[in-house]
Amino acid sequence: MLDVGRHPNIELLAYSEVLDVKGEEGDFRVTVKRKARYVDEDKCTGCGACKEKCPTVLSDAFNEGLGERRAIYSWFAQGIPSTHTIDPDHCRQLNGKKCGICAKVCQANAVNFEQKDRNIELDVGAIIVASGYDVFDPSRIPEYQYREIPNVVTAIEFERLLSASGPTGGHLDRPSDLAVEAEIGTLKKAHEKSLKQLKKLEEKFGEASADFHAKYKEGAYQGDKDREKWAEKYETHLTIEEPLLKLEAQAEKFQTAKKLAFIQCVGSRDFRFYPFCSGYCCMHSIKEAIIAREHEPETTSTIFGMDIRAVGKGFEEYKVRGGNQSNITYVRGRVAEINEGPSHNPVLTYEDTREGVVKSEAFDLVILATACAPSSGNPELAKILDVELSPFGFFKTDASQPMDTTRPGIFTCGCAHSPIDIPESVVQASGAAARAARTVMGAGMRKAS
Ligand SMILES: Cc1cc2nc3c(=O)[nH]c(=O)nc-3n(C[C@H](O)[C@H](O)[C@H](O)COP(=O)(O)OP(=O)(O)OC[C@H]3O[C@@H](n4cnc5c(N)ncnc54)[C@H](O)[C@@H]3O)c2cc1C
Ligand code: SF4
Ligand code: SF4
Repeated sequence: MLDVGRHPNIELLAYSEVLDVKGEEGDFRVTVKRKARYVDEDKCTGCGACKEKCPTVLSDAFNEGLGERRAIYSWFAQGIPSTHTIDPDHCRQLNGKKCGICAKVCQANAVNFEQKDRNIELDVGAIIVASGYDVFDPSRIPEYQYREIPNVVTAIEFERLLSASGPTGGHLDRPSDLAVEAEIGTLKKAHEKSLKQLKKLEEKFGEASADFHAKYKEGAYQGDKDREKWAEKYETHLTIEEPLLKLEAQAEKFQTAKKLAFIQCVGSRDFRFYPFCSGYCCMHSIKEAIIAREHEPETTSTIFGMDIRAVGKGFEEYKVRGGNQSNITYVRGRVAEINEGPSHNPVLTYEDTREGVVKSEAFDLVILATACAPSSGNPELAKILDVELSPFGFFKTDASQPMDTTRPGIFTCGCAHSPIDIPESVVQASGAAARAARTVMGAGMRKAS
């Protein structure tokens, strides 16, 4: 990505949308919408001073909703270009309220609330569609209770938890525990505020709130309006303090997730959803289990699958090494259902098909290896490009020219083409670039003659 950002022959138009494609192979005219960031890309240094002060707190989509971001934000720390963007749907200033704090603190003077979307025209010889995939939504499988049981997460959520730059700094904190910690944070703020109010009253009357309240309850200070208010405030304070202390005691016992279960083929190889194999998920589950064990040596992982598809150079050896050196057990069998047990532990019911026995086992955390779904934007993009989609919804290609779409001069690669891993996507990208270069060179020669 860094190489792309600084390559002299590549112009990166991030935060942009293709609106229209006219013309033909070798001579396309493309209309692109450059969406307003409300931040000048050329001036923004990426320092982040603006987001430190922005009062609007939102769920962070890059961290799969497990962390927070502000209304002015960068998608992720290493993004290219390293500029910030204002979320127009949630920014106070852009929604008619008074704010503008980011503009005041920005030393580079990069914030510009007057910026507008603008369309640009590009003359290009060839187009490559590399628009990727969507993560299958596992809540479509009711028996896995993905949204109902907090400690059932998708593989991509798990990767954010494992990441040193993620919401937990790489600690495998369980979502059920994170929810309690968030509640503690909210209660602590309210507790601090109410303590300040009580302190003022204690100074005024020269008495501790608890001592005053004990006397008040015994009938003292009847008819004293000020003290009645003090008693009310103290009682409200207790309704904050009691659950806070309870939750803090609970949180002291929290431990990181050490007993992990990975469920393969969630939405893939399933005729209710996608009958195809998503290709990369067996390997990413093994990778995630190995990394989790590197973080915490006591970690054990069980990978449940119909079979483990370790198809690639060195993949089978990696799988075996995971079993021998990283506490991974492979169980052949599809998980029938997940239920919630004590301490928010997900309990799996499955048939171990090698033994022919139905079993039930509790884990700290369950990770769903979700299918590679065609991007939901594919039908619209296909319409704009005037190309066809395959029956599953990926960009249709010719078996003899696998990077060519159904329209000459338009090529595809990566998960826009089909579910594939990164190395294969890179190989395809080189293939598509070679096909595109051939088209552009041919057009150049035709123009010259
Ligand atoms: C949890 C998980 C872990 C994985 N781990 C590994 C691993 O360890 N190793 C491995 O090899 N593979 C792994 N994979 C697979 C890997 O993610 C894919 O192989 C890879 O991302 C495919 O790359 P791509 O460029 O085709 O698509 P993407 O990575 O999806 O990139 C497509 C890009 O296009 C953008 N886009 C979409 N539509 C448009 C549009 N209309 N206009 C402009 N831009 C658009 C998207 O925002 C996105 O940035 C993993 C997958 C998952 C789900
Ligand atoms: S103007 Fe918008 S982006 Fe800037 S600080 Fe206020 S809410 Fe945040
Ligand atoms: S790669 Fe493995 S988990 Fe993914 S769909 Fe294929 S068999 Fe299932």
